Amino acid sequence: MNYSSTRGKGGRTTLSAALAAGLAPDGGLFVPDSRPSFQLRHFDGARELSDVAERLLQPFFAGDPMAGDLHAICDEALNLPVPLTAVDAPNTFVLELFHGPTAAFKDFGARFLAACMACLPDAAHATRTVLVATSGDTGAAVAAAFHRRPGFRVVILYPDGKVSPRQAHQLGCFGDNVQALRVEGRFDDCQRLVKQALADHELAERMQLTSANSISLGRLLPQMSYYALAALQHWRDTGRKLGFVVPTGNLGNALAGLLARDCGLPIGSIVLANNSNRVLADFFSGKDYAPRSSVTTLANAMDGGTPSNFERLRWWYPDAESLRQQLSADWADDEAIRDTIIRWHADHDVILCPHTATAARVLERRRAKGDDSDYAIVATAHPAKFNSVVEPLIGRTVDTPPALQALLDRPAHADPMPADYPAFTHVLHTFL
Ligand SMILES: *Cc1c(COP(=O)(O)O)cnc(C)c1O
Repeated sequence: MNYSSTRGKGGRTTLSAALAAGLAPDGGLFVPDSRPSFQLRHFDGARELSDVAERLLQPFFAGDPMAGDLHAICDEALNLPVPLTAVDAPNTFVLELFHGPTAAFKDFGARFLAACMACLPDAAHATRTVLVATSGDTGAAVAAAFHRRPGFRVVILYPDGKVSPRQAHQLGCFGDNVQALRVEGRFDDCQRLVKQALADHELAERMQLTSANSISLGRLLPQMSYYALAALQHWRDTGRKLGFVVPTGNLGNALAGLLARDCGLPIGSIVLANNSNRVLADFFSGKDYAPRSSVTTLANAMDGGTPSNFERLRWWYPDAESLRQQLSADWADDEAIRDTIIRWHADHDVILCPHTATAARVLERRRAKGDDSDYAIVATAHPAKFNSVVEPLIGRTVDTPPALQALLDRPAHADPMPADYPAFTHVLHTFL
């Protein structure tokens, strides 16, 4: 499989090269040149996430120097449980993606990317600097995945004061080869600084930079596997397709679901759930695509006004109308998020994080319009990560998973930084 840029310049490249670069040289996003097509029998006997992932990703790795490492990469990175649990509401399930070390779905992509990067041909020689802009969960997952890995340093940028207290603690608690920067600005500023650094040729001569944002193929590809696993499991159990409602910010997670469906997995409708940053909900309701600056919400990991994976989506479906037939979208504001957390706890005995609550709300609205097909709400984070929001609403404490507690028990530190490029390059040049 070869990969090329959504902006069409720079020719074809291998998966290894695309992963090492992060962003294509012309500023576009890497996309696979074809979408492999699977039959259900290709997954016979595959019941663990790592098995499904290995079969699904094999064509994406075909011909690459890393192809021989795929089994070990899946084994190391994707040995996480992904329970699909039934809710006591008709045809409704929750796909729990929060059983990794940092309690959010970002662990799947970050661990896979780190395992891949450790296999890159020249990984033994130069130190790679992994840049990551985060609105909360990505940074911690990437830090956990690369922490103390020889040959890597991680620089995390997050908007100061705009992540939950526990998220902030997680971002700053690693130390060693991980530096956390609390940026005086929004998530969009952090993302802009990272993009600028990745496109900076002068900087590239001084250090090997790469990114771990949701634009990275190394995150997109493994995320297909839990959609595949859940859909296969549901198909085997019921003979019906499973749809997904996905809390969405930069579209990385939902795009992986779409890609899995395009590869032939038995996936039904894919519904995007925005918070008040409703760029996608507006587009899919028929309005023009209109990126805008982000607003702060309770579902802060979805607080972006410029969904970075939209460019990939448009590349696959250049025509807006045919794109609108692939996905649908809706949104929930903070009031709806709070109300949904309270009601799901009371009515279904399920504690939702604020992100997952947007999906629950969006599903309820579809149910009200008569859609009774099978859906899994994609639970993107553990509610304990957002205890300061969730606990006052439900009136009880949320049990903290042991892995999260271990991180919270470590001391944390982040350096302040203004949202300007010279300040950022100064940090890149000085930190080691
Ligand atoms: C990152 C994140 C999202 C949004 O995922 P995208 O891939 O950016 O759409 C949703 N929920 C949680 C908890 C997250 O950490």
